[in-house]
Amino acid sequence: MQDRNYLQRFCIRTIDNQPGPGGERLSLAHRQGPGESVRSRILGKESDLVSNHTLGLFRHFLARFSPQIGISDFDIHGSLLTLHILQWYRSPTLTPLIAIFVVLFGLALGSFLNVCISRLPRHESIVRPRSRCPRCGAPIGSLDNIPILSWIFLRSRCRACRQPIAWRYPAVEFATAALFLLSFLCFGLSFKGAGMDALCFLLLGLAAMDAETMRLPDAFTLPGVLFGFVYAALRPEDTLRDHLWNAAASILWAIGAALFLLLIRWLYSLVRHQEGLGMGDVKLIAMIAAWLGPLPTGLTLLLGALATALFGILAVALSRGKRPFLTTRLPLGSFLCAAAIYTIFAGDPILRWYLHFYGITY
Ligand SMILES: [Zn+2]
Repeated sequence: MQDRNYLQRFCIRTIDNQPGPGGERLSLAHRQGPGESVRSRILGKESDLVSNHTLGLFRHFLARFSPQIGISDFDIHGSLLTLHILQWYRSPTLTPLIAIFVVLFGLALGSFLNVCISRLPRHESIVRPRSRCPRCGAPIGSLDNIPILSWIFLRSRCRACRQPIAWRYPAVEFATAALFLLSFLCFGLSFKGAGMDALCFLLLGLAAMDAETMRLPDAFTLPGVLFGFVYAALRPEDTLRDHLWNAAASILWAIGAALFLLLIRWLYSLVRHQEGLGMGDVKLIAMIAAWLGPLPTGLTLLLGALATALFGILAVALSRGKRPFLTTRLPLGSFLCAAAIYTIFAGDPILRWYLHFYGITY
């Protein structure tokens, strides 16, 4: 018992002496669970990493290979092991290395995202054929397929036909890497960080596809909704009931958001006798709600609608009346995706500020 108390104090001290990447200090809270096992939980950004699930994995591992140790010892071993991992990744030498790896991973996935953006709206396979120049059809060698660098070295022209390569290619690669890095800096190496990477990948792809082709392919939105349910179900929780509750809530919010947009779509067609909102937008907002929940989705809708309106007014003003406002087609989906990405990283302070008027802490 004395050892355990010592261990608790040790954990608190080690954590408190290690400021995070942003200089913040974490505190460690302990709970006495059933069977008096010591449960450790870090309050703050890394809460996912040291959740009881992570501990549970170590416990299973230890239980398998050292059956003579009692279960309360597993908790302590698990806690210590997790603390070591936490400190290892927060150490000043490793954080930049992990950041570099995150950026390289983002660049590679951005390159794959470009293939999806070029092919999915045309219902082509993303696996076959290999990468080709969209203008002359010449296959692109691996050396000419390096994210961003190849575009610069080829001076944005195809090696075979010398016709220009769209700036969208390096832009999407850069944006994917930048968002992955931002997610790592905001959420660390955590379940939430990985989830937000996946969501940003989907949103960035959909934004580019809607801007280029005015389409939001089902191949992205529908799996996106499903992944949102899975993400909610797997979010670190203590009990199976909490997992099921999270999944059910995610499904509920997705349906609610879709119904809300269907209602607007119906009202619009009633007033204007034409389609204003596409079904792609409805599926997109269901996806965002499945991942982020009701309040961030509300903020996304508000910001997306504002940005679309602003863009529309600007487009009409710059065309000096040549483009009548009511017939100008606007990629609402692109703006919704951009608003969702903004909400992921910067939405919390806005929501907190808004909700404090109602006495709600968010
Ligand atoms: Zn070419």
